[in-house]
Amino acid sequence: MVPKQIFCLVFGIPKGDYGIGTQCECLELLQGVEYDVRDEDKIIWKGSKTGDFSMKNTFKVLTGEVIEIGWTRLVWFKHNIPRHSFISWLACRRRLKTKAKLLRWGIVESAGCVLCENGIEDEEHLFLNCTYSKEIWQGLLIKMGVSRDISTSWDDELLWCQNNFLGEGAVTTVKNLCLNSFIYHVWMERNNIIFSSKKMASAGVSHLISMDVRLKCLASKLTDKDKLPIRRFMEVWGIGYTYKTERIVECSWLYPAEDEVMVNIDGSRKDNSGGSGAIIRNHTGETIVAACGGSAPATIMAHELQGVEVGMKLAITKGCRRIHICTDSMGVYKLLSGESTAAWSVLHIWRRIQHLIKEFSFIRYSHVYRETNRAADRLTSEHPSDNFVIIDITSFDREMLSILEEDRAGKKYLRK
Ligand SMILES: [Zn+2]
Repeated sequence: MVPKQIFCLVFGIPKGDYGIGTQCECLELLQGVEYDVRDEDKIIWKGSKTGDFSMKNTFKVLTGEVIEIGWTRLVWFKHNIPRHSFISWLACRRRLKTKAKLLRWGIVESAGCVLCENGIEDEEHLFLNCTYSKEIWQGLLIKMGVSRDISTSWDDELLWCQNNFLGEGAVTTVKNLCLNSFIYHVWMERNNIIFSSKKMASAGVSHLISMDVRLKCLASKLTDKDKLPIRRFMEVWGIGYTYKTERIVECSWLYPAEDEVMVNIDGSRKDNSGGSGAIIRNHTGETIVAACGGSAPATIMAHELQGVEVGMKLAITKGCRRIHICTDSMGVYKLLSGESTAAWSVLHIWRRIQHLIKEFSFIRYSHVYRETNRAADRLTSEHPSDNFVIIDITSFDREMLSILEEDRAGKKYLRK
């Protein structure tokens, strides 16, 4: 019997309204709640993936999704030059103390550009419209293999860079380094003229930029695809890089050891339902038993874990106590092998799995490629109304039999 006070607390029933109708309604709700008396209660902070409270996640929940500013990855990237990135960051945020700004604040009497001595020194002029720096940036773009008219708006030019300096390879690193180095050296040159009365020709600044980019790249051991346009690009900049060759892996269905059985598991999701499946085979590749399960649609991770649960239940039903579980989900593999912790949204399934694990004398886990897990994948498409349905293996259709035969024969698959 659930005390009336708990009814009020949990379901917010107005004080004194304990009518039979209300109580029945509450009992119905309680029956729908999934809990296991073997587990301890846990307070869950839904704002975080793990369910644990943290200030960082609370901030994210309160402020909504953090939208990354477009130019961020142009400035902050792997292999950046920190002093260059810092000046670029200020420039992108329009926080450099340009003379136009200083004039508005009454600190200087003239906002004239010291580089070309013909223009108002703001971001637009300093980096794009000034004849001195325009010549440098245009030359760098040509060296990058780009021929175009530079924008007259600083924001537009940054947007162009965002849309054209894409990817993770060596070429993008060079382009990003080049942009940051350009901003840094133009700003330094402007400072040298103002504070040291030293002026360098624009060709000298271009040379400094190229040298900084080149030296940083040589020290960073860049990698990129082995393609002719990339090789040519790097040759122009005088930078060597490591070619990334595509690794091709040969794989086939994994046989279990003689004293264990292989449990291939999988999960899938449709619009209105979720499915899970498991199949158990012995060391000769012979199918022992198979099962599938269905549930309301949840996350893919939840259905994959339901697959683990189905596989374990199936093994217990058949008296298999030494099992080898194979999954094509890296998330599930990491969870099972203790490399990660369960998200609160799948904690209830994870806890059930923890109890099932105790039933086995030996378990090992492997992550396999999808091609070698096709039998379990096929079982997940059933989506029955029950969460555990044992399948008559003599009723397998031709396609399933073909998959099982190919697995047994050790069919090889090539993976990039
Ligand atoms: Zn100028």
